[in-house]
Amino acid sequence: PFDVLIVGGGPAGAAAAVYAARKGIRVGVAAERFGGQTNDTMAIENYISVLETDGPKFALALEAQVRHYDVDIMNLQRADRIVPAPTPGGLVAVHMANGGVLHSRSVIVSTGARWRNVNVPGEAEYKNKGVAYCPHCDGPLFKGKRVAVIGGGNSGIEAAIDLAGIVQHVTVIEFADALKADAVLVNKLKSLANVTIHVNAQTTQITGDGQKVNGISYKDRVSSEIHHVELEGVFVQIGLVPNTEFLKGTLELSKFGEIVVDAKCHTSLPGVFAAGDVTTVPYKQIVIAAGEGSKAALSAFDYLIRQPVD
Ligand code: FAD
Repeated sequence: PFDVLIVGGGPAGAAAAVYAARKGIRVGVAAERFGGQTNDTMAIENYISVLETDGPKFALALEAQVRHYDVDIMNLQRADRIVPAPTPGGLVAVHMANGGVLHSRSVIVSTGARWRNVNVPGEAEYKNKGVAYCPHCDGPLFKGKRVAVIGGGNSGIEAAIDLAGIVQHVTVIEFADALKADAVLVNKLKSLANVTIHVNAQTTQITGDGQKVNGISYKDRVSSEIHHVELEGVFVQIGLVPNTEFLKGTLELSKFGEIVVDAKCHTSLPGVFAAGDVTTVPYKQIVIAAGEGSKAALSAFDYLIRQPVD
């Protein structure tokens, strides 16, 4: 059995692996895709001490650092169930989709999250070529340009306010008949001169010139007319979904499906810790996920040294 088994190999899982391995204990990482969401990122310009890198390079560097230590990396492995230890301090079982079962004295869940797609023509084609999901990450890439934000909930309106300070113009496109964000945010948005809001608007297509985005089309759901707006960027803000489907009924989850953790990354199950985008910790960013992964490993180590000797 492992002392620490990490499920998920993104920035949170990689940081947890490095911190745990440096304690000289038995560490394993089971991950579907090492590097996680960073594989899908073009430019990363906000990881402190790294002026600029790209996602695939960053993902390779994560794996190389973990491989530098004596960590058992199990790639292309998907967990589909966690079974709590039968007795306090006993072994937690992680069941894999391929039928295998891994046992560990402690487990760190760092399975991350995924952005919900709008699923219209052009979205996949122009991902990272004008289609973006994270205003903190990619907002500055659109400095002085025109963008749309799809989604009028809190994250969409926060993104629109944020972007309005950087870009030339923001078009907000909301499917429902009103913006759903908090009134204080909606009022702030409406006070901005370079923002246009369309409600009852269904995005139908993200258009491009073959290389990058050049516009967005939406249907007015009242008149059924199709409109087209010329612009350079589209931020899709219709939800971030935590990868916790396999944990329902095992760990306490928030109403958004995030694993509820305390400041030390404890979950509702003793011996099971969680870190990164999969948790209730706010602001889903690489540097934050890495910090949380380090904390989870230190908490797991603290848990292990407090187990009575048998
Ligand atoms: P993830 O990176 O999501 O990693 C999750 C890991 O768990 C992966 O290895 C995955 O394969 C694995 N996994 C999932 N389910 C299972 C399972 N059941 N069993 C086993 N393994 C599983 N942040 C920034 O700070 N700067 C940026 O510039 C930036 N740009 C971004 C651009 C894009 C397009 C996207 C999508 C995100 C961007 N982010 C950026 C956000 C950043 O990538 C995430 O905050 C960060 O990767 C979260 O790390 P994590 O380890 O918590 O999860």
